Amino acid sequence: MNKESLKKAFSPIAEGLFGKQKTQHYVKPHFIVRPINMMLEDLIGNDDISWGKYAFSREPLNGKFSDEKRSELILKCNACGVEYARKYINQYNESEPVDLADKLGVKVFYPEMPQNADRVLFAEYKDPNKVYIYTDSVKKAYDTMNESQCRDILGNDLNITNVLLAHELFHYIEEQNAKTIFTRTEKVELWAPKPLHNRSGINVLSEIAAMAFAREITGLSYSPYIMDVFLVYGYNPEEASGLYEEMMEHAGKIARLPEEIKSSLEEIITND
Ligand SMILES: [Zn+2]
Repeated sequence: MNKESLKKAFSPIAEGLFGKQKTQHYVKPHFIVRPINMMLEDLIGNDDISWGKYAFSREPLNGKFSDEKRSELILKCNACGVEYARKYINQYNESEPVDLADKLGVKVFYPEMPQNADRVLFAEYKDPNKVYIYTDSVKKAYDTMNESQCRDILGNDLNITNVLLAHELFHYIEEQNAKTIFTRTEKVELWAPKPLHNRSGINVLSEIAAMAFAREITGLSYSPYIMDVFLVYGYNPEEASGLYEEMMEHAGKIARLPEEIKSSLEEIITND
């Protein structure tokens, strides 16, 4: 990379930092693209709390919680996901997601892409008993795996479809246990005039628990949240790098730069 392209790579950041005066309009943020293996190596050891904070950062009600409360909820959601995984494995004597779906009466469909979707979607649960796994994203993820050496990091036996399916099965199970399951009974008080109560559910709790459920069922040794980077990478390495930066920040770690950018940067600093 030469100085000119390096300048280009950094200009969106510099414009943000130094507040260049421009007509205000939305500019899509740019991120320095990292190799997938580097990102996975850095993220794979992140703990439940840091993944939970990353998940919470996407929750519209995030601002309602103190750090302490957020951490408490994250741990409870993880425990809830694990508890339900064990309960269902025992009850149905089944831990293979496809067979568990079958025993639960959940129908699984494998269309290539979602209909009318304006964004990339990997899988979804639809009431009352349907799960959709979008094969285009799974195929792209396997392509990424084959092109890079990330099987060494993610494990040879990683079955992406199983992880996605297990996550969505949790949403079905939640529905069946809606009156008692923690992810549904936990509410937050929103503002309302005195005599009224306005208690709202918290969507992110379901997502955190669904990931813990998927991890327990598939026996993964790391959080399935790492899939966010991995699956997005197949569509857009720059977006995936942006997610990596966020995830590193929530883990209190410093996002690494690719070697070639680091050395060009050092060269500029020494020359100046
Ligand atoms: Zn979900």
